[in-house]
Amino acid sequence: MSEARSEVRKATDASTESNVVPREVWMNEAWGPPPRSRDVAVESKSDTTQELPAIKIENGNKTGKVSDEFKEKTEKIINALPEDVKQLLRKLDIKIVAAPGFDVPAPPGALGVLDDRTNTVTISERAHQGKPEEVLSATAYHEVGHALDGVFLRESNDAKFQKALEADRKALSLAMKRSLVDYMSKDEDAYAESFAESFAYRQVERTGGKIPDQFLKLFQHTITYMRKKYP
Ligand SMILES: [Zn+2]
Repeated sequence: MSEARSEVRKATDASTESNVVPREVWMNEAWGPPPRSRDVAVESKSDTTQELPAIKIENGNKTGKVSDEFKEKTEKIINALPEDVKQLLRKLDIKIVAAPGFDVPAPPGALGVLDDRTNTVTISERAHQGKPEEVLSATAYHEVGHALDGVFLRESNDAKFQKALEADRKALSLAMKRSLVDYMSKDEDAYAESFAESFAYRQVERTGGKIPDQFLKLFQHTITYMRKKYP
């Protein structure tokens, strides 16, 4: 379908400053149809103690099956997400697949992809080979961010979010602006990328991990927004 857009999180060389934030490649520039506002409500905080079934991760796609270890790791990471996010995943029927590779076109180095035609997040085992578990968490949460933003939240379009992001963008050095070019423009794609990445790091933090120091320093307004939004 022509409105299809897939989100890709790419591998980076963390040793260079220019790659502090993972770069992304767009497979299809079309953003797609206007927001589909579905009748979904985030449960109130009082519901977070409810015992809900674990979110099931599908093993494999056309490219084959993954190792038990990778499937379990991915499952653990997804189920570590706070209940508000998991409830959205359940209600919006977002499918999460651990697979050796992607069954939709993806550029070299892609770590995860969202296919928004099918609301399917695919995390690649091959692309995560030899990478620390933090990378897998960040990829999974980044794609989850895209999935929720695309089908429901539309938070990347929210004026408050954009205001926070613009405050951070303005303070970046010219070199940094160049290296983060995919995140810099005032179009929906760049806002969506910035949303997904900061959403991901906030979820990393909410699940007991640490936001990389440099991201925290460069995107402090955006992270402050995320911390308020996802307490
Ligand atoms: Zn992305």
